[in-house]
Amino acid sequence: MKTVKYSRQREAIREFLMGNTSHPTADEVYAAIRRQFPSISLGTVYRNLNLLSESGEIKKLSYTTGPDHFDYDTSRHYHFVCRECGRVYDMPLESIEAVNRAAEEYAPGAVDSHELVFYGVCNACLGRGTISA
Ligand code: ZN
Ligand code: MN
Repeated sequence: MKTVKYSRQREAIREFLMGNTSHPTADEVYAAIRRQFPSISLGTVYRNLNLLSESGEIKKLSYTTGPDHFDYDTSRHYHFVCRECGRVYDMPLESIEAVNRAAEEYAPGAVDSHELVFYGVCNACLGRGTISA
């Protein structure tokens, strides 16, 4: 495994993501981290986000043709993606293990997990109140 040198900037990025449930994009992370490190470049933010996702510390979500989103929560959970604004929301829905069993019938092997993404239009875009995430 590649050893990654400790970096204060990467630590700040990790801290920003921890507990941030809004699945920020690289641009959003950059805007927040710049307040602490005014000279940081967008490229450095991208590189660190990629390092963190390659090492499995965060998850990169590539659900749309728009920018990737980043999730500090690497546990298995579902997401809802808004087609209008591109926001990614957590879905507090229990893992549907029956999906694995149904897929097992057609899979060329043993199924042990699955990914499921829900698409639609979020309440904020529908004008039904404020953003909850
Ligand atoms: Zn929306
Ligand atoms: Mn999530």
